[in-house]
Amino acid sequence: MSKNKSSESVKVVVRCRPMNEKERAAKFERVVSVDVKLGQIIVRNPREASASELPKIFTFDSVYDWNSKQIDLYDETFRPLVDSVLFGFNGTIFAYGQTGTGKTYTMEGVRNDPERRGVIPNSFEHIFTHISRSQNQQYLVRASYLEIYQEEIRDLLSKDQVRRLELREKPDTGVYVKDLLSFVTKSVQEIERVMNVGNQNRSVGSTNMNEHSSRSHAIFVITVECSELGVDGENHIRVGKLNLVDLAGSERQTKTGAKGERLKEATKINLSLSALGNVISALVDGRSSHIPYRDSKLTRLLQDSLGGNARTVMVANIGPASYNVEETLTTLRYSNRAK
Ligand code: ADP
Ligand code: MG
Repeated sequence: MSKNKSSESVKVVVRCRPMNEKERAAKFERVVSVDVKLGQIIVRNPREASASELPKIFTFDSVYDWNSKQIDLYDETFRPLVDSVLFGFNGTIFAYGQTGTGKTYTMEGVRNDPERRGVIPNSFEHIFTHISRSQNQQYLVRASYLEIYQEEIRDLLSKDQVRRLELREKPDTGVYVKDLLSFVTKSVQEIERVMNVGNQNRSVGSTNMNEHSSRSHAIFVITVECSELGVDGENHIRVGKLNLVDLAGSERQTKTGAKGERLKEATKINLSLSALGNVISALVDGRSSHIPYRDSKLTRLLQDSLGGNARTVMVANIGPASYNVEETLTTLRYSNRAK
């Protein structure tokens, strides 16, 4: 059966991180197996649970185990999407998953370690290498960096970290963030500097960075404008936009008896992740005439980069250990539905 267009433009891949020191020391059982050839994740029940239950099997576009290298993910899964951005299409890469499963590792990786660089720095390298090799085109690269926290938008590149920005809509250009700053960058070093400024601002005002990042979405946006002299003697411009999204943690935020403000906040996080799941599954399904973009700021903001000619990759990150099995299954079900 031939797949519809949207299902080809949306890819869902799963990555399982290695056991960490603590998990190894505590001799936690590994309940996740990864079959790279078949694209399958197999989850067994932890030994202490009912032994009669069968393992659960999920199939994805690709799967990556704990030995997977950043560059392999980049070359196989992200590079084609970034190439399409260089050709003037929009694209979005999401990292989804429970806190501590490797979202930020996948997006940013480990600074100053070329082998462990994530997709964001690898895309910088890719984009500027492409530009340096091009002969007849002129490029303009701009970067923006924003955060959505409790359905409020903060510009991570602004001096004013208190101000909240509004989403607006224009008939010709669609949805945009009013007054969002963007900086022209001419090299890998310059765009890295922009990212570092944003990362520093991200931690401003949060006493616990880990907690803050687990409750907010960070979106790094690279706009690539290419102008080229056509055979008609006129200049032609194409613009592609790359959204790199480190999502809020997918763990059930309401489970710990949150009350008042905390509960409100938790509800908003769950809402925006489920809105994203609904949009992606509607796109993949291809039969829905209504894509529910309007249900959250995240999906409204990314509307022009999800569906249509845009490409999307969702990386669902999971952990291997038995004590995470419920969250792991929840993540796999969410991502499976997204597919
Ligand atoms: P998240 O952003 O989802 O909360 P992190 O990316 O911060 O999770 O990952 C948690 C820890 O696990 C970090 O110390 C990170 O370096 C490590 N880690 C995550 N994924 C991998 C991986 N694939 N290989 C090696 N270490 C990883
Ligand atoms: Mg993180």
